[in-house]
Amino acid sequence: MNLSELNIGDKAIVVKIKGHGSFQKRIMEMGFVRGQELTVIKKAPFNGPSEYSLMGYRVSLRQNEANLIEVEKNPQLNELSSMKYEGTIDNNQLKLTKNNQGKNINVAFVGNPNCGKTSLFNFVSGAKEHVGNYSGVTVSVKEAKYKKDDYTFFLNDLPGTYSLTAYTPEELYVRQHIFKEHPDIVVNVIDGTNLERNLYLTTQLIDMDIKVVIALNMYDDVEKSGTEIKIKELEELLGIPIIPTVGINGKGVDELFDKIIEVYENKCPIVRHIHINYGEEVEHSIVNIRQATEKHENIQVKMSQRFLAVKLLEQDSQIIRMMTNMDSSGEVLKTSYKEINRIEELFKANSDSIITDAKYGFIKGALKSTLKKSPYKRQERSDNIDKILTHKFLGFPIFLGFIFLMFYTTFEIGAYPMNWIDAGVGLLNDFVKGIMPEGMLSDLLTDGIISGTGGVIIFLPNILILFFFISLMEDTGYMARATFIMDRFMHKIGLHGRSFIPMIMGFGCNVPAIMATRTIRDKNDRLLTMLIVPFMSCSARLPVYILFIGTFFPKTPTLVLISLYAIGILFAIITAQILNITTFKTKNAPFVMELPPYRMPAAKSIFKHMWDKGVLYLKKVGGVILIAVIIIWALGYFPQTTENTETYNAQIAQLEQTLEQDGVATDTTAIQEQIANIENIKNEEQLKESYLGKIGQAVEPLIRPLGFDWRMGIALLSGAAAKEVVVSTLSVILQLSDDEENEDQLKNKLQTMTFDDGKHKGEKVFTPLVAFSFLIFVLIYFPCVGVIAVIAKESKWKWAIFSALYTTGLAWVLSFLIFQIGKFFM
Ligand code: GDP
Ligand code: MG
Repeated sequence: MNLSELNIGDKAIVVKIKGHGSFQKRIMEMGFVRGQELTVIKKAPFNGPSEYSLMGYRVSLRQNEANLIEVEKNPQLNELSSMKYEGTIDNNQLKLTKNNQGKNINVAFVGNPNCGKTSLFNFVSGAKEHVGNYSGVTVSVKEAKYKKDDYTFFLNDLPGTYSLTAYTPEELYVRQHIFKEHPDIVVNVIDGTNLERNLYLTTQLIDMDIKVVIALNMYDDVEKSGTEIKIKELEELLGIPIIPTVGINGKGVDELFDKIIEVYENKCPIVRHIHINYGEEVEHSIVNIRQATEKHENIQVKMSQRFLAVKLLEQDSQIIRMMTNMDSSGEVLKTSYKEINRIEELFKANSDSIITDAKYGFIKGALKSTLKKSPYKRQERSDNIDKILTHKFLGFPIFLGFIFLMFYTTFEIGAYPMNWIDAGVGLLNDFVKGIMPEGMLSDLLTDGIISGTGGVIIFLPNILILFFFISLMEDTGYMARATFIMDRFMHKIGLHGRSFIPMIMGFGCNVPAIMATRTIRDKNDRLLTMLIVPFMSCSARLPVYILFIGTFFPKTPTLVLISLYAIGILFAIITAQILNITTFKTKNAPFVMELPPYRMPAAKSIFKHMWDKGVLYLKKVGGVILIAVIIIWALGYFPQTTENTETYNAQIAQLEQTLEQDGVATDTTAIQEQIANIENIKNEEQLKESYLGKIGQAVEPLIRPLGFDWRMGIALLSGAAAKEVVVSTLSVILQLSDDEENEDQLKNKLQTMTFDDGKHKGEKVFTPLVAFSFLIFVLIYFPCVGVIAVIAKESKWKWAIFSALYTTGLAWVLSFLIFQIGKFFM
């Protein structure tokens, strides 16, 4: 709890002081040091100052100051003092309860994108956050707990930023985190192979006057490249301790946390607050602004005055807004504008670029004596690789070759484990059928749950392989190049280069593809990409294509298949254009696309990524799909009997009797066929009378203009759970009992399927035209429950609903046009 939460008369012990350095110093000089006991004497109403007694005298603090002092109310202590104990229980630690001797340390990881924050974070927390050689992978904050010695660390992995200005959401986020959460220690992770740029962020942390420890990461690469960094000297210069680390194997992490403890306990001799010298004129302005801000007691508690002055000079929009909202801030703002004008006149440059230049000047100076670069090997090697991979003419074909390899492996190699899983599911089904008594439960387990979810688990190997390639691309740094290569083309169709990867992933499965849009920084671009990913024909639609193309287009299978994928892409592009013109007009300024150096990927990281995606997929199977399967099964299963069931059963029983009585005498196969026939009719009637059948017939009027009948309606409805379900539903509807389920038979049935009522009764349902119209519908309509759920989760329900309605509406219109116009030609 904090000091302001105590009531009059309460006794407590100081646990820690939060806030920036000079605030801490002032408060500690007043006697609020860790382990100090104090008593609340007076509390003023309406957040006025309160009075405390400590070390025999009284001090008063304002509420916003008291908020930053963490204390512990100790009942033991109250007893102790009420006994007027005069002995020598002097050990302050004794007064703090065991689990809170001020040993909880809040640590925030801050650093440039791609410097290895998440790798270090994962190493200590054992978490499985995704690591990528691709800036922008960490989008939200990750939290973890870590214990070492008596200390408990609460770790936060913050988004990567180059700076702490207010330009991007990430930067604002990191800054807000530091102001609001007051981490005890900020670990500034630095890519040691790129000190100059990485230290820019450090200069801002220095201005903020907070406790920082530098993790000099990628130290393996630093050593390999032959670069020499004089760490001792550099840490003295910066006033910040520096620990070399290697994120991929955890080297230096122990030392890092030892150092964090040392700094937290104020025992590190290196720590000192330095001032970055902005040059005489700017320093003069800083002094003037500080004179104005110093009259604001409130603001003094919140942030370092120097930081505030620098930010005002930089015309930081958020700080200016904050000041404007404060009472009597007029003078501060007036002074700062005056100073900005003065130095801009003087230097003939923007005030913020003057400050940035000064910061880089400081960094250059600090590195001059401490950094001895050898010829920069890694960058050189990267440059050489880039000469080929991002070559003007070669780049694109190489990239296409890689994508081809990715898909080829995903589908061709993936087919083997797919068959094994298929066989396994079949065996399991038979096994369960064998050991369970016949009845509803057995039917639910086998025909419902095992077949239904099994048909979806089959795609797990494809997904793992696809993600193997995608992780490989991310971790080596090739993903950034792919984005770069595709950027021009993507801009032409109104998208960003970064949209390309999610779209490619969409061919595998739309769900992870939509999650991959997280790497797109611009909110509108991201949303737009999410909305067009469903047009990328995912692997779940493939079984439907294969079945129908094999049945109705045996002569031109490849052409039809390619046309389906192409139509999907075409409508993705058209949709992007429409949304760009109508909804997402405003675009943020373009930003630099980073090209991080190529790195050997760590196998562990790749497998971790695959594992994560696998688990995610299985969760989808175990969640949404399982529920959908059960619902569809139940809707088709009930009611079990129709008015004719009895009659059919009687007929079957009679035939069976004849079979038994006559033995060899009669033609047994003929009778068996007859029985099967009646079974078929019985099942067909049952299905038609079932709830599912009723639903199908209810939607039939809607889809009749597309050439579809009620059975196709059911298949499409159930395909909303997952598109592969369309095939399994059709095979259920077309009465293929498990043991005779094979493709040829299903094809036969599809070809001979006839309308069973209405004015077309007896006519064949499927012509090639209807089949094509159906395929287009399957391609475009409602992606699946999983996709809609993930769009809702990643954006807003509004957009998920939009996506569902838009895709389904578009599918209807397209199928309608194809069928109605096609009729004239066929
Ligand atoms: P973040 O963006 O700061 O969270 O960086 P990540 O943790 O995602 O790491 C970016 C890339 O650098 C990944 O490919 C890591 O495997 C790699 N990496 C992280 N730390 C090190 C390190 O110390 N040495 C080397 N060679 N690679 C590292
Ligand atoms: Mg990260």
